Amino acid sequence: SDHQLEYPSHPSAMDWSSHYPNYATTNKKIEFADIGCGYGGLMIALAPLFPDTLMMGMEIRMKVQDYVYQRIKALRDTNDPHHYQNVSIMRMNAMKFLPNFFEKGQLSKLFFLFPDPHFKQRKHKARIISPTLLAEYAYALKVGGILYTITDVKDLHLWMVKHLDNHPLFERIPDEECEQDPVTEHVRTATEEGKKVERNQGDKFLACYRRIEDPLA
Ligand code: SAM
Repeated sequence: SDHQLEYPSHPSAMDWSSHYPNYATTNKKIEFADIGCGYGGLMIALAPLFPDTLMMGMEIRMKVQDYVYQRIKALRDTNDPHHYQNVSIMRMNAMKFLPNFFEKGQLSKLFFLFPDPHFKQRKHKARIISPTLLAEYAYALKVGGILYTITDVKDLHLWMVKHLDNHPLFERIPDEECEQDPVTEHVRTATEEGKKVERNQGDKFLACYRRIEDPLA
């Protein structure tokens, strides 16, 4: 349950300096968010590739968050002092409080990697991609920003594609173009769930979308 979760009333009320102490005196904002990041493999793979980009893993399970926190701390302690300073983890329920954390158009990448499938019809409302939540993701993403989804569950893939295709603020990026994106290989392979799917020789269904200009604005 998330009733003890603390969240700011507005993004400006959030103090990020404990997450990114090296950036405390800059005005830098988080640009990448990994929703339901699990054990943090994606953010940790991307941190050295985008050393000047602040990135945040968001995870609802306290134990998993603690683990990722320790993992990042260890990486910061054992590497050059400026390494892994741009990556952090926070515990939050992304289905509830996302707009409290991010301003309009703040993010350039949003990741949904191997989200919980919630197979049963009556559980579909618990899925992390839905028309209501897509409005929040569109709000947080800047025009031109990219939303990445990947799953081994075909039914969930089709569900995510259906809702994203139907949303006026997202446009699917052709698969050939996704393959040119240097981030894509990490989306496929960097997370713990992605590695598990690989061990089990499961399928991986990728779909990436660009946040487009509001056609009515
Ligand atoms: N993305 C990771 C990976 O690829 O290894 C984890 C995948 S795991 C199947 C789904 C994760 O989403 C779990 O760690 C779960 O705790 C988290 N999660 C589920 N609902 C969430 C929510 N509402 N807010 C934040 N995290 C959530």
